[in-house]
Amino acid sequence: TIPVSGGAFAAYDVVVGRGLLAEVGKHVSPIAKGRTVIITDQTVAAIHAEALTASLTAAGVRSEVVAVPAGEGSKSFAELERVLDRLLEIGLDRKDVVIALGGGVVGDLAGLAAALYMRGIDFVQIPTTLLAQVDSSVGGKTAIDTPRGKNLVGAFHQPRLVLADIDVLATLPERQVRSGWAEVLKHGLICDADFFDWLAGEGAAGASGDPAALEHAVIRSVEIKSAVVGEDEKEAGRRALLNLGHTFGHAVETEVGFDEGALAHGEAVALGCCMAFRYSAREGLCSAEDVARVEAVIAAAGLPTRLAQAGAFEADRLLALMAGDKKAEGGALTLILARGIGDAFVAKGVDTAKVRTFLIEEGVTS
Ligand code: NAD
Ligand code: ZN
Repeated sequence: TIPVSGGAFAAYDVVVGRGLLAEVGKHVSPIAKGRTVIITDQTVAAIHAEALTASLTAAGVRSEVVAVPAGEGSKSFAELERVLDRLLEIGLDRKDVVIALGGGVVGDLAGLAAALYMRGIDFVQIPTTLLAQVDSSVGGKTAIDTPRGKNLVGAFHQPRLVLADIDVLATLPERQVRSGWAEVLKHGLICDADFFDWLAGEGAAGASGDPAALEHAVIRSVEIKSAVVGEDEKEAGRRALLNLGHTFGHAVETEVGFDEGALAHGEAVALGCCMAFRYSAREGLCSAEDVARVEAVIAAAGLPTRLAQAGAFEADRLLALMAGDKKAEGGALTLILARGIGDAFVAKGVDTAKVRTFLIEEGVTS
C-alpha cells in the first residue's frame, strides 16, 4: 500500500498486489455506502467484470456495469455524455461511487464523468493495463479527446483509492505489457538509477509478463510517480519530469497516427527516452556509456530505440509538433534532459535550431 498526496483532495492509497480483484469488496465497502457503478470497456468487461461484481456483492455492495467500446475513441464528448446519462438514469447520488475498471481510456473517461457528475462524486480506480497501473491511475488527471487533439478537455479529480491487481495483467496482450514497461523504465531513468539497474537485470522478465517482476516494478513506479506528483499537483515544476521521452515521443506518435497497430504509446516513449539521452550526450550533459546502456536496456525489452523503426519523418513537422505541445514556451522548447541515468531535469529555453540539427543527425529529412 502506497499513500499518495491528493493535493487539494484527500490523500488516497494505491494498493498493489495479486488477487486483489477478488478482495475489492473488502476495500470498497468502507467507501461505498450506497451503490457503485462500474465503468469499463467491452473487452475488459468480458474478462474481468464478473470477478469484480461477485466480490462487491459478497461484501454487500450493489453494483451495475456500464461498458463503453474499447479503444481511444471512447474518450469523446459523445461517450462522456452517454456515460453521464446512464449514471443519471441509474439514479446515482452524491454518496455513491464510480469504479473505473480498465486501462487509461476507461480511467480517464470514468474519472472525468465522476468529476462532473453532481459536481463530483467519489471514484475508485482498478487499472487493468500496465500503463494504467504505473501511470494514468495515479495523479488525478482525467480527460477526453477532441478532434483538435488528445486530452484537451478534462479535470483534476483524485480517486479515493487505487487497486492495482498484478494478476489482471496476465490477460493483457504482450505488446501492451511492453508498452507499459516503457513507462516503468522511464521512472528509473528519471530519478532512480538502482531501480533502472534492477529493471535491466533481475527485473527484466517483467517486460514479458513475469508477475513477480511486474509486482515490484509497479510498486516502485507508483512510489516514484506519486513522489513526483506530490511535489506539485498542477504541473508547474517537477511534475514535468514525468514527460521524459514524451516531447520527442508525442511528436513521433502524432506523426505516425494513433491507428490500431501503428506505434503504441510506450513504444513512442521508449524511442523518445533514447532521443532525450542522445540529445543530452550531444550537449555534453551525460556520457556516451549512459546512452549505450539506455539503448541496450530498451532494445532488450523489445522496444524501439531509433526513429527509423517508427517510420520516416521530416524535421520541421516534428519540430512543429514538439512546439505545439503544452511544454513549449516562446520560440524555444522545454525538454526533459538527463545528466545521467536516474538524473533527469527540466531544461527550459532549449534552442529550436539545435534540436533541428539533432533531428537531422537522427536521420530525419531536412
Ligand atoms: P486502453 O485503456 O485503451 O487499453 C488498451 C487495450 O487493452 C484496450 O483494448 C483494452 O480493452 C485492453 N485491456 C485493458 N486491460 C486488459 C486486460 N487486463 N486484459 C486484456 N485486455 C485488456 O489503453 P491504455 O494504454 O491503458 O491507456 C491509454 C490512455 O491512457 C490514453 O488515452 C492516454 O491519454 C491515457 N493516459 C492518461 C494519463 C493520466 O495521467 N490520466 C497518463 C497516461 C496515459
Ligand atoms: Zn506516457
